[in-house]
Amino acid sequence: MLVSTRLLSLPFRFRQALIARLFAATLALLLMALPEPARAQASGDPTAPHTHPAARAIQFPDTADFLSLTCDFHMHTVFSDGSVWPTIRVQEALRDNLDCIAITEHIEYQPHKADIPHPDRNRAYDIATRAAQNSDLIVIAGSEITRSMPPGHSNAIFLTDANALLVDDARAAFEAAAGQGGFTFWNHPNWTAQRKDGVARLEPLHDALIADGLLSGIEVVNESTYSREALQIALDNNLTIIGTSDIHGLVDWDYHVPEGGHRPVTIVLATERSQEGIRQALVDRRTVVWHRNMLIGREQHVMPLVGASIRIKRAHYPGDTSVLRLEIENVSDAEFVLRNTSPYGFHKQGDLIMLPPHHTTVLDVKTLDRLENVRMTFELLSVVTAPGTHPVLELRVPVGE
Ligand SMILES: [Zn+2]
Ligand SMILES: [Zn+2]
Repeated sequence: MLVSTRLLSLPFRFRQALIARLFAATLALLLMALPEPARAQASGDPTAPHTHPAARAIQFPDTADFLSLTCDFHMHTVFSDGSVWPTIRVQEALRDNLDCIAITEHIEYQPHKADIPHPDRNRAYDIATRAAQNSDLIVIAGSEITRSMPPGHSNAIFLTDANALLVDDARAAFEAAAGQGGFTFWNHPNWTAQRKDGVARLEPLHDALIADGLLSGIEVVNESTYSREALQIALDNNLTIIGTSDIHGLVDWDYHVPEGGHRPVTIVLATERSQEGIRQALVDRRTVVWHRNMLIGREQHVMPLVGASIRIKRAHYPGDTSVLRLEIENVSDAEFVLRNTSPYGFHKQGDLIMLPPHHTTVLDVKTLDRLENVRMTFELLSVVTAPGTHPVLELRVPVGE
């Protein structure tokens, strides 16, 4: 977002207020994992508190149908208004175990140009690509189209030549990106420098760009911010849901990585681990954003990711009690927050359940009778499918020995 205020003195008209539509979201997710007593015993005492620090590498499991690729499509270096050389962006991404990054310099705003002259706007991409060549990291060419509102800032990625976007007319820049096969999304539509109240709103120019296929995604998460209005715009206009770091300084410092923080990422549900696989997934809207432990996405995308992340390791009645001991493993980096909506109460907890990342949580469930199958439902408070809307997690638990 860091840009000179000169570029940001922007007239904007209030469009009619956004009409929020709430979709009741329910889903029957069947987790039919068989009990695995041998594995449960090998992992030690499942009731022990979660003490080991979260690993830095960002990890989400693949879903049944797609690869879960972690991507950051918005970052800056000294080739616009960032503070680091492009090689640092590559090293940060490797430490975070990302699958893909796009370095997206402000094409029109070049505050370091006197110190680092570079007539070619592809330089940051070229340097990053060379730095990543002996790794698995996928580097995508991109650029930030940096305009006052409307249309504000947008990122075009999968470019072949960023220089061609350096044109006066905003729409012409979008057309140049599309002509290169680019995918363009609206950046930080909630930015207070361009929206004083922090509320994302479409303007007629956005409507036109969307209608003409020139604007295909929107940042619902940018840097430290989440915009529920941007999420509603994405749902109403069939835009790809994007979350990015927009990092200018260091990821470690801005996102407190040593203290367990993480940068926002877009989890792209792709059929193959390649630039084309990622591009196709973005075009098909198959994304989930991870931000401050929230997972944000359409229900058909986020729930398969939840289903792959939360597994029942074991379910049994200890001794001759009718209190079911349920061991639930979370194999993802997200901490899930659940609200119990089952007819059963718990022996130790209240109705608010936390599933820490990479940890097995034990619930003692008072089923009153010794049942062979137990159906439980939870509201997934840390998962968002529309503004104010959380999906339902249904567990159908076969009880073992
Ligand atoms: Zn920006
Ligand atoms: Zn930016």
